[in-house]
Amino acid sequence: MEPEPIFYWHIHHDTLMEPRCGPIGDRIAYIRRAKPDYQVPTRLRFLKAVRGRLNGVLAMAGEEYVAAEQLVADTRRARGNAQDALDSARMDLYDAPWFDLRARWAFYKARFLRDRKRDAEVAADAWRDKSLKTCNYLLRIFRPEIEALHKQECPNCPWDGNTIFPEQDGY
Ligand SMILES: [Zn+2]
Repeated sequence: MEPEPIFYWHIHHDTLMEPRCGPIGDRIAYIRRAKPDYQVPTRLRFLKAVRGRLNGVLAMAGEEYVAAEQLVADTRRARGNAQDALDSARMDLYDAPWFDLRARWAFYKARFLRDRKRDAEVAADAWRDKSLKTCNYLLRIFRPEIEALHKQECPNCPWDGNTIFPEQDGY
């Protein structure tokens, strides 16, 4: 299976190009579910993968951001599971008599594991923030090249420099 592209045009109505944040299918499902009906066709028509070659540094920054974003999602899920396990071990400990060393052991072990998962999530968040900053910086640096590529790849686009809904106030 081909790896999913990293950069897309108009993931949001007010962005020209940016790296996806998670699978693009999730974003498309969100647009269908949450955006006003009259906007959905335009949003979906112009949300498409960037096909042309990007500067190597920018391409790599996008890949790094997507990898970091994936790690954030994974570590968040793992921390949530560890938190559930800790909550249940705590309930068991409350119900147990003091000499039930098994319950105490299970509680402290679950707390230790939750803390480690939380540390991992914090580290992933920091990585994601850092890589996003770099990516946004490079998107500004390469803006002229990106705009030239946009002209080729996104014909009849209503993009006015700020939005794909230039006619509508507030969008
Ligand atoms: Zn466009």
